[in-house]
Amino acid sequence: MKDSYDVIIAGGAIIGSSIAHHLAADKNFTGSVLVVEKDPTYASSSTTKSASSIRQQFSTEINIKISQFGIDLLRRAEELLSVNGEHTGIHFTERGYLLLASEATLPTLRDRVKFQQSHGVAVDVLGMDELLTRFPWLNPEGLAGAATTRQGEGWFDAHILLSAFRRKAISNSVTYTASEVTEVEQAPDGRVTGVVLSDGSRVGCGTLVNATGAYAGLFSEKVGLRIPVDPRKRTVFVVNCPTELTNCTTVIDSDGLTFRPEGRSYIIHLGPEPDNDPITFDLDIDHTDFDKRIWERLAHRVPAFEALRMVSAWAGHYDFNPFDHNALLGTMPQVPNFVFANGFSGHGVMQAPAVGRGIAELITYGSYRTLDLSPLSVSRYFENSPLQELNVY
Ligand SMILES: Cc1cc2nc3c(=O)[nH]c(=O)nc-3n(C[C@H](O)[C@H](O)[C@H](O)COP(=O)(O)OP(=O)(O)OC[C@H]3O[C@@H](n4cnc5c(N)ncnc54)[C@H](O)[C@@H]3O)c2cc1C
Repeated sequence: MKDSYDVIIAGGAIIGSSIAHHLAADKNFTGSVLVVEKDPTYASSSTTKSASSIRQQFSTEINIKISQFGIDLLRRAEELLSVNGEHTGIHFTERGYLLLASEATLPTLRDRVKFQQSHGVAVDVLGMDELLTRFPWLNPEGLAGAATTRQGEGWFDAHILLSAFRRKAISNSVTYTASEVTEVEQAPDGRVTGVVLSDGSRVGCGTLVNATGAYAGLFSEKVGLRIPVDPRKRTVFVVNCPTELTNCTTVIDSDGLTFRPEGRSYIIHLGPEPDNDPITFDLDIDHTDFDKRIWERLAHRVPAFEALRMVSAWAGHYDFNPFDHNALLGTMPQVPNFVFANGFSGHGVMQAPAVGRGIAELITYGSYRTLDLSPLSVSRYFENSPLQELNVY
């Protein structure tokens, strides 16, 4: 490791590694990059705990465009990320999300579908007949229709994608070190001059990137610019179902209950009630949550799940932005060489390709080139100007 790098990235999971890869892959970036990752096993990183799905059914143009960029990279992962011909193997299953609607929510769903179609999303509204023909294992009670895409959504292995970004970055001379950034040093004008690592060593830098996931709010305090990003626990339950649900995809019921196939099993997720969603780094699993809140709704919507068998469960942290549930990107004039890539609120793995590319462009050229990510500028928080994403689960 050297005494100084042009760019230091704090946090080397999917966001930090995507930024590192896109920097190193850009011929016009000639600097050096150090990625500091405190847990190189990524055992507790949100990336590893994610449900690893990507969708385009959003309510804001920027989130749709970010996903379209992501889909393109996922489809071309072998071509873009393999090193010495080694397969990346991200296991991308391209299959549209199925968003279910009740009588009350159908008009909103129709409006959003029109909006998405106007931005190039191959999405359709399904009437009840078509819905039940294609997904006959659904109980229609309480449903009035649904929306699904013909292409451009699905799921993949986020940990493998993270590893592919990392391996590619290393092959292009990025250095990774297993350590924690404990302090950030600043000049009197606010600019970051370097970081202190957990072994007490100091490393200088020209730019520091905050890619610390659920720790990002706390990390941003180190430069005196607290952003609203908190760790919120989310639990995923894995079950087996004796009856195969033909053509099953990622299904989101009108109350937010979400499930999709994972191998021969199914993974199930339901966000907490807003008044029971504490800020916590704890990752203990509350198994009673499944019985209390999920089981009845699940078996109601898919009667075949009445015979399910619980296999396992895991919990991870959403890097949750309570301000407006959207990513907070870019810089602030007070600390112009401190770059935020935070607050993805449950969308970070699908947004990693576009955000990695965009932040790399911001560092290299001083502006976004491929996709203008400025609607997600961190400044909107400090200006109290939220960008509300309405399709949040
Ligand atoms: C249950 C669950 C389901 C999800 N499902 C989806 C989904 O389907 N689709 C989707 O797009 N997103 C999903 N997400 C969200 C997604 O996982 C995150 O938004 C994304 O992983 C964020 O990536 P990251 O690299 O910013 O954070 P992380 O993966 O958390 O990485 C941050 C890294 O920073 C390191 N770090 C922290 N502080 C320091 C420091 N001071 N010094 C050095 N290293 C540090 C940590 O060790 C960690 O490895 C889900 C999340 C959860 C919990």
